[in-house]
Amino acid sequence: MENRRVAVIGGGLGALSGAIRLAQLGFSVQLFEKNPKIGGKVNEVILDGYRFDTGASLLTMPFVIDELFDVAGFKRSDTLDFLPIEPICRYFFPDGSVMDASADKKKMKTAIAELSPNDVEAYERFLKYAKRIHDLTAEIFMYTPIHEFRKLMRPRHLRTLFRLHQIDPFRTVHERVSRFFSDPRLVQLFDRYATYNGSDPFQAPATLNIIPYVEYGLGGFYIKGGIYRLVDALETVARERGVQIQTSAKVERVCHVGKRVNGVQVNGETIDADYVLCGADAVVAHHKLIDGHQHQRKKLNRLEPSLSGMVFLWGIEGKHAALAHHNVVFSSDYSTEFRQMFEHQQVPDEPTIYIAITSKTDAAHAPTDGENWFVLLNMPYLAPGQVWEHEKTRMRRVVLDKLKQHGFDIADRIAVEQVYTPEDFSELYASNKGSIYGVSSNSKTTAFKRLPNRSGLLKGLYFAGGSVHPGGGIPLVMLSGKMAATLIAEDHASKDF
Ligand SMILES: Cc1cc2nc3c(=O)[nH]c(=O)nc-3n(C[C@H](O)[C@H](O)[C@H](O)COP(=O)(O)OP(=O)(O)OC[C@H]3O[C@@H](n4cnc5c(N)ncnc54)[C@H](O)[C@@H]3O)c2cc1C
Repeated sequence: MENRRVAVIGGGLGALSGAIRLAQLGFSVQLFEKNPKIGGKVNEVILDGYRFDTGASLLTMPFVIDELFDVAGFKRSDTLDFLPIEPICRYFFPDGSVMDASADKKKMKTAIAELSPNDVEAYERFLKYAKRIHDLTAEIFMYTPIHEFRKLMRPRHLRTLFRLHQIDPFRTVHERVSRFFSDPRLVQLFDRYATYNGSDPFQAPATLNIIPYVEYGLGGFYIKGGIYRLVDALETVARERGVQIQTSAKVERVCHVGKRVNGVQVNGETIDADYVLCGADAVVAHHKLIDGHQHQRKKLNRLEPSLSGMVFLWGIEGKHAALAHHNVVFSSDYSTEFRQMFEHQQVPDEPTIYIAITSKTDAAHAPTDGENWFVLLNMPYLAPGQVWEHEKTRMRRVVLDKLKQHGFDIADRIAVEQVYTPEDFSELYASNKGSIYGVSSNSKTTAFKRLPNRSGLLKGLYFAGGSVHPGGGIPLVMLSGKMAATLIAEDHASKDF
């Protein structure tokens, strides 16, 4: 293992995916996670017989996970069941109407026809348009480390770069969606996809309309037993492949001699390493773990963090047949909601409410006559003037009142409760300003401004996770781990490294 030692910072999915690949390639890999267990923002808690995923609840692009298992010599289906969710989501609109969205095109068209017959044909066209963006961009923006000049200049990528105008970067998500759909409810529904990477549909480039294609064209899934089963399964694969995982192990510093990394400092001890793969938020890492480089820090401070969130975990007494596994109760003024969050960093007065209830699919996740509600509200990233103790109480009231208006009077049925604010996300996962997807994609150039997978400052330092290319969300962070591992392997093989 001479010169093949890799220290991995953090046990999030990006880092874990990179660690497994590197171990498979013959590197000696040590992973350090500051928390008592790995998984990062994919986490779970059990409260009085109610079991909750506390972070991600919907899985897209499952083939990314399958490929990682294959590479490591395992078969994903031996340990993990990916279940398509039907409906993918039940939408409750401000006027009281309800719509079930489905990846089954026929069902989706029927649902749209019931809501707005004139928009059925628009949906066909919208899906085709979103697929075109996917086909044009996926290879380059999702699967290629775009900051690597050599890789970007490959002929097939150059062809894409010359057709960049076709991926709709000059309009916003909202502007483009509004051109397709006449019914404001459908506009709100498709605008929502910008939040899948923590962005604002009223600012983010329409290129993000790729996301509805990923969900409706490629499918949305749940993992039997809960999304956290993915972490369990990856931990098993990692350990089997020889990754040494240490939890409650906080990395305090990336050590280097001149401009070459030579290890990390963990709980006061120096661990020698030839390469460091940082899966912790890269902006925070540049502030807390990497000394010097004041200029780079200033540059990183200008990257706008993604949305944060407020989560209520509620163990509910009683069943609600009118709710599905995934539900969204929309606010009545989407543009004000986002303006409050992104322009003023304020808690929205009327937030859109997302509710995931895994006990609809996994009955064992709640007592026989109960349900486990994971309630997520989009929130601004941390900024001066916010008082989260106060907002927690205010939002609880707002959410309960709004749910009551839709026929869900649960205030006296909450048997157990746990709440997470943006401060908690910042504290628990060391995420930049509590952001839950890393950097927002509100500008046309974010894809290029996001940090690269290889450090330009220190030789031997690489990055994975939501704050770096290609961005946040389970499949993308796992792809970032793949890119970082590939770069390490290539650099290791190169004579002049
Ligand atoms: C509420 C919520 C809902 C979400 N919903 C979805 C969804 O439905 N679908 C989806 O695909 N994605 C969703 N996401 C996003 C997805 O969970 C994240 O993008 C992804 O899990 C982040 O992975 P990561 O590799 O960036 O690592 P992270 O999860 O950010 O983990 C980083 C890890 O590094 C550790 N760490 C940090 N600093 C140090 C240090 N100095 N030393 C040691 N360890 C350190 C942290 O403790 C943490 O465990 C959601 C996220 C949240 C929070």
